[in-house]
Amino acid sequence: MKRVSILGSTGSIGVQALEVIEQLGYEVAALTAHSNADLLEQQVRKFRPKFAACSQPLNIADTSTKVVSLLDCAAAPCDILLNAIVGIAGLRPTVAALKDGNQIALANKESLVAGGELVTKIAREKNLPILPVDSEHSAIFQCMQFPSTLWALRHPKVEGCPSRAGWSLRSNRPQRIILTASGGAFFGKTRAELEHATVKDALQHPVWDMGAKITVDSATMFNKGLEVIEAAWLFDLDVSKIDVLIHRQSIVHSLVEYCDGAVLAQLGLPSMCLPIQYALTYPNREASPSPRLDLAKLGTLTFEAPRHEDFPAINLCKMAWELGGTAPAALNGANEAANELFRAGKLRFLDIAHFVEQAMHTVPNSAADNLDNIFAADQAARQKVVCLSQP
Ligand code: NAD
Ligand code: MG
Repeated sequence: MKRVSILGSTGSIGVQALEVIEQLGYEVAALTAHSNADLLEQQVRKFRPKFAACSQPLNIADTSTKVVSLLDCAAAPCDILLNAIVGIAGLRPTVAALKDGNQIALANKESLVAGGELVTKIAREKNLPILPVDSEHSAIFQCMQFPSTLWALRHPKVEGCPSRAGWSLRSNRPQRIILTASGGAFFGKTRAELEHATVKDALQHPVWDMGAKITVDSATMFNKGLEVIEAAWLFDLDVSKIDVLIHRQSIVHSLVEYCDGAVLAQLGLPSMCLPIQYALTYPNREASPSPRLDLAKLGTLTFEAPRHEDFPAINLCKMAWELGGTAPAALNGANEAANELFRAGKLRFLDIAHFVEQAMHTVPNSAADNLDNIFAADQAARQKVVCLSQP
């Protein structure tokens, strides 16, 4: 039995996490939301957390749940905190939770993209593993468990990388990580077709049912680019050792190559319930009622290289990593702003990557070891995108 806090409990990941928690019979310590106060109220009445936070007024005076701030919820005592907020709004809570000694299960990839240096430094200082929830990173983490579990049992005090997966034992470090990508809504489209891509089309993901921001990020391939940076921080690898492979069926969730050439992969049906559950039950596995994979029924799995000429986002993210400092924060902020403007019908699809690139190169780069610099780069990049989008 664990006590779990969920930040962003009304979103796609948050709602699925509550289903997993109910199934596991875990307790809920804190729940937070931004705008959907009605759903948060229902969740509070059902799961009876000690604390709740919402940007809107909450009508729960008749319950025993205390309304506090988002950062108070992040720091409230729990066994594990799931950060399922979308966007850089998740960064301060990630930092607050780690500083207060809460173990984090991280869905909010933007925390690591913009604040990876700071977040992983605090995690190391506190000796707290960051448990990945993103399905690709969970797959990699699962593929690293066998050597690392034995190793960690023998060397509990030795510092490792943030996900603490087999680190200092050199031979068990992965040589290469291969992130799989479904390709999103526009895979196979020509540049001419992408000129006229609509918001409605971008939101039609072929496999995954997710929040609007990440669904558009999947269509542009920024989602995979952000995941490359997320993996670099989580697994302490340079982006040159992280490849992307298009795999339309989303059955192979990612792969790890070791120094002897062995490649391990984790497979499963496309559902976020397993990665969420694994992060919550780690280091154990618990039974799950989720449907089982039947490979004979699926028959064929396909793999191909991404087309970087038409989808430049992955290379832009790799460039941001190589520039270092606050460049990834600027890229992330620019992408959040462009993604939002596109969803509001104020930006053409192809301008998203174009404007992100311009913003990343215009915003001055500084050290990314503090929140002030990270948020300054984020804000400047957003403003640049807004300026570029105006006629
Ligand atoms: P979503 O839009 O469905 O939900 C976001 C949640 O964050 C909501 O509860 C919302 O109230 C809250 N929120 C939004 N803005 C906020 C703010 N300014 N302050 C505080 N809370 C705020 O998003 P999602 O699809 O569940 O994604 C959440 C995170 O998980 C993202 O970082 C995404 O990249 C990552 N992720 C999602 C999936 C998925 O299947 N949905 C898969 C992998 C990773
Ligand atoms: Mg993912």
